[in-house]
Amino acid sequence: MYVQKTIKKQVSCSGIGLHTGNPVNMTFKPAAINSGILFKRMDLDGHPILKIHARNIGDLSYATTVGAGEAAIKTIEHVLSAMHALGVTNVLIELDSNEAPVLDGSSSCFIKMLLDAGLTAQNAMNKLIRIQHPIEVRVKDTIISVEPYDGLKMTYTIDFSNPFIGTQTKTFELTPQGYIDDIMRARTFCLYEEIEYLWKMGLSKGGSLDNAVVFAQDRILNDSLRYDDEPVRHKILDLVGDLAFLGHPLLGHIKVYKGGHLLHAKFVKEIFAKPECWTYLVDRKLSPTFYQEDGDHADLFTIPKITQSSSNPQIFV
Ligand SMILES: [Zn+2]
Repeated sequence: MYVQKTIKKQVSCSGIGLHTGNPVNMTFKPAAINSGILFKRMDLDGHPILKIHARNIGDLSYATTVGAGEAAIKTIEHVLSAMHALGVTNVLIELDSNEAPVLDGSSSCFIKMLLDAGLTAQNAMNKLIRIQHPIEVRVKDTIISVEPYDGLKMTYTIDFSNPFIGTQTKTFELTPQGYIDDIMRARTFCLYEEIEYLWKMGLSKGGSLDNAVVFAQDRILNDSLRYDDEPVRHKILDLVGDLAFLGHPLLGHIKVYKGGHLLHAKFVKEIFAKPECWTYLVDRKLSPTFYQEDGDHADLFTIPKITQSSSNPQIFV
């Protein structure tokens, strides 16, 4: 059985949005059983609420958006990734802008916020989606597939012509501590030659070397990487976030080749379009390493020290 979880108390942070550059205050609040993950726009009349669900996937250009139109909220994937990794089922996230804060470009700050708040088990189960037959989605030369597996395993491959990225493959099996140790510190990244294009698209207005790794053809602009294969680890971080749109933990082995938010979102929708390939599990006892049943176990997680990046000048603005 997978017990629903929320947080014990509210926690807040402030920052700027990666793409809009807008300042934003964000608060996580406890939510009742079966609420799901809810985003609430405190800056708009009526405080519209958007639920994380496949039908609410919005724009996917260089970030994941929930909702459409004025109430939409951009770049939520790192927040969702932290929620999914720790098994937080029910939470209300209040924001006073149209984009989540980027902070250091990874999900480590959101993990810390959740652990500061404390997790608590609720008196209800969440169903799991267990893959029974393979599903595959292809978009041009990119591929995502899933096959039956007794856990959530991800094998991600990226292939960039940039010599400092190149081809990277990583296999990761999701557990809260494994995510904390190996994934949460991986920062978002871009190619130096992409920056002008991103500007023209009105994106990356809040981007800087303090929240993104920038790869040029002849060097890495940041002082250092947090992992040798930081880009593929960040892709796994993004995938964990985008899978939150399923609303249920997934049991399967996902393989991705050259993926991104668009491919992840098509995969989520394809799962719901192919109900014959999976089944809901409601009463299965899971290994304690997969999803912690007792929220208080969160206190046992060990958080490695975060290397503070130096105060580089903003390069995109
Ligand atoms: Zn990302």
